Amino acid sequence: KVIDAELMRRKYHNTIQDLKGNIRVFCRVRPPVTDAELTKPQCFIGYTSESVIEIKKTKESVCPSTGKPPDIKAEFVFDRVFSPACTQTEFFEELSQLVQSALDGYDVCVFAYGQTGSGKTYTMQGDSSPEHLGMIPRSVNLIFETIDSLAKSNWVYTVKVSFLEIYNDNVRDLLDPKGTQNLEICHNEGKGTTVSNLKIQQIHSPKDFHDLMTSALKHRMVAATNFNELSSRSHAVTKIYLHGSNSAAAVSYTGSVNLVDLAGSESAKTSLGERLVETKSINKSLSALGTVMLALYNKNSHVPYRNSKLTYLLQSCLGGTSKTLMIVNVPPFEEHYSESINSLRFASKVKQVKNLLKRNRAVSPAPSTQ
Ligand code: ADP
Ligand code: MG
Repeated sequence: KVIDAELMRRKYHNTIQDLKGNIRVFCRVRPPVTDAELTKPQCFIGYTSESVIEIKKTKESVCPSTGKPPDIKAEFVFDRVFSPACTQTEFFEELSQLVQSALDGYDVCVFAYGQTGSGKTYTMQGDSSPEHLGMIPRSVNLIFETIDSLAKSNWVYTVKVSFLEIYNDNVRDLLDPKGTQNLEICHNEGKGTTVSNLKIQQIHSPKDFHDLMTSALKHRMVAATNFNELSSRSHAVTKIYLHGSNSAAAVSYTGSVNLVDLAGSESAKTSLGERLVETKSINKSLSALGTVMLALYNKNSHVPYRNSKLTYLLQSCLGGTSKTLMIVNVPPFEEHYSESINSLRFASKVKQVKNLLKRNRAVSPAPSTQ
């Protein structure tokens, strides 16, 4: 009976999640963090609604021909907009249900998109103080808490993790930095996507995770000093593999949480030589990500996952019954206006996907999640 109740709770929880749509887009504006930043002019105005962000187009001035102020605002609508005042704890509240649905057999994918310095790494990883912990360590903590409580109703889970980065379209294992620098991605129907020779480690506690992540980050950092801030030039993918079974109820679930700190989306204007090669590769993979989202939106029979390593790697968690969250991070300053507009436009395109899914749901009932 306990098991029945548990299964009912999960079914209810996933139905609620399905109603929210399979692709969601959040926007997060970071606060100024240094004394110098505190005095910089900002370009976002008001956070009066939970889902609308307004950006100042130009400095306020009077239009000479009409005598009226020009069109000074652009407006973007997302599933949620988070102001600079939003804490990591508040932000994670919106994510926690998504993480929990991975324990119920879903593939979940969370992207942080935005220019370098916009708050992607802060959002995903955070810093060392407990209240600044990012979404990745918070997800792991929540997974272990939930597994502990599910153990009372006979659920047994295994948790494994891998850390990789995609740099210039090469896949590198951050747990095996001395290994091959260009791992192969394979996709087999039914089995999903695998990366050959990628280290996948079982963990038993948040502490195990923390130790592995520290070592993975060190390997990213080593490269960063050698390669002039390589960390903002690569996509970092943390994957949590979950398998749960309940022998009494003869059910089992396999799910995953993919947390992606994307490379900086800034444009190439000043890049030369090696930097230019990187920028081209980043632009190619970010636009491939956008194209895949649009193909899903248009319900194209062909979704071009293979156009980049990034989308090919994440194929099984984009589309289908997977749940995707795109976080678009923006800095608050006027000087970053055009990069911010680019990021917001990109994210708005992704947001259309969700609208369509929602409309379809209204016509035909959502498929059973069991
Ligand atoms: P990115 O990874 O996009 O290049 P970072 O995450 O490194 O950007 O953020 C740039 C700086 O702003 C860092 O010093 C970071 O700690 C700080 N920061 C970003 N977002 C926030 C936030 N929401 N609250 C407080 N500080 C933040
Ligand atoms: Mg970063």
